Amino acid sequence: MEALRETTGGQFHPHTYLLDGTKLVAYIKANEATPFYFKNPIKGFDKRGRKFAPGNNSLFTEKKESNARTVIGSSGQTYTVTAESCSCPGYTYRGTCKHMAEHV
Ligand SMILES: [Zn+2]
Repeated sequence: MEALRETTGGQFHPHTYLLDGTKLVAYIKANEATPFYFKNPIKGFDKRGRKFAPGNNSLFTEKKESNARTVIGSSGQTYTVTAESCSCPGYTYRGTCKHMAEHV
């Protein structure tokens, strides 16, 4: 995957595009921060006559489980907490626990 920022100017807005080869996978509108992902990548993205600068690939990182957090339990064990689950026995037993309440 390659992120490219359009620098052509004129009628071409300076959007940032995410390309997989010649397929357009997603883009971020100029002045916006949220990528728009196409359901089906658009084939044959045409770069002819246009100018691009390297874009910031990290803008396109999809939401992932990296919001997982490690907490230390009252007896010193470590648990992994995400917005959806916790690895502690309390969560396993009750489906909720104090760690999740603390997880923001
Ligand atoms: Zn827990």
